Amino acid sequence: MKKISELYTNRQKTFSFELFPPKTEEGYQKLIETIGKLSDLKPNFISCTYGAGGSSREKTFAIVELIQNKYQVISLAHLTCVINTKDQIKDILNNVKNRGINNILALRGDPPLDNPNWAPGKDNFKYSFELCAFIKKNFGDYFAVGVAGFPEGHINCPNQDLDAKYLKTKIDNGADYVITQLFFDNNFYYKYVERLKKLGVKVPIIPGIVPITNYPGLVKFANNCGATITDEVKRIFEPIQNDLGQTAIAGEKFAIKQCRDLLKNGAPGIHFYCLNKVSPTDNILKTIRS
Ligand SMILES: Cc1cc2nc3c(=O)[nH]c(=O)nc-3n(C[C@H](O)[C@H](O)[C@H](O)COP(=O)(O)OP(=O)(O)OC[C@H]3O[C@@H](n4cnc5c(N)ncnc54)[C@H](O)[C@@H]3O)c2cc1C
Repeated sequence: MKKISELYTNRQKTFSFELFPPKTEEGYQKLIETIGKLSDLKPNFISCTYGAGGSSREKTFAIVELIQNKYQVISLAHLTCVINTKDQIKDILNNVKNRGINNILALRGDPPLDNPNWAPGKDNFKYSFELCAFIKKNFGDYFAVGVAGFPEGHINCPNQDLDAKYLKTKIDNGADYVITQLFFDNNFYYKYVERLKKLGVKVPIIPGIVPITNYPGLVKFANNCGATITDEVKRIFEPIQNDLGQTAIAGEKFAIKQCRDLLKNGAPGIHFYCLNKVSPTDNILKTIRS
């Protein structure tokens, strides 16, 4: 399959979706239908997340294979390095390579809920940049490697400048592009891109956008990952938080405005956190493409 890094050579904007492996068989069957519908929207790629500590490993890779083989859409496997030893990660990467998957999002991840105090030892990677370097050293250019970026700074990083320097370390160790955490004020993204440019980062920084469909759920998620719920978002969504229909309409409108502004101001594409649903991402995408 084509590498995601190759998509950015002709300055064409990319549109991509992120899915997660469902917990139940019923959810999995539904996801297969969703993948079919999302593929009809002709995305540039579809990614699939990796459960904490590798809990969803087989499902992640099976979903990525399905997207590639059945739908002929470029697909991206997330991979976290917490819990696993370096030897185990090498085995996992060999397995991924044998399956014909050549796009990896190299993440550190977080300790799983059932082992929250896990800390890396000498046989583990401590940070994502070490995983990037390991992939390049052991697999050369076989994989295109993406990494996570945090426009507001990672929640555990003391300041945004330091966080930008850590991001640069991932690029210096072989990462080809960045997909960002969600954000609701585009200025966070623009300032992040500026900080990274000043450090000499030239790779594509792809903004991650979540269409708002459930405000209380979003607030909880945003608090956990350190994304600011802006005053504008509060003003629009708090009064309608118990009305899912109104929230969906407002969420679609908000995301269209956010994406149009990003694309107009130089973002290389949009990565949609579509939460295993076709709507409203389908409408948003059709509107911003038109
Ligand atoms: C696009 C995207 C996709 C994601 N997909 C998944 C997924 O599939 N599964 C999952 O479990 N999680 C996922 N996450 C969440 C991610 O795993 C967590 O945010 C995790 O806490 C950080 O991972 P990282 O790869 O950014 O780690 P790192 O880049 O290693 O950073 C982790 C922390 O260490 C700090 N740091 C980095 N380098 C250094 C250094 N050299 N010295 C000192 N400190 C340093 C950083 O500032 C940060 O605080 C995703 C996040 C994003 C934005």
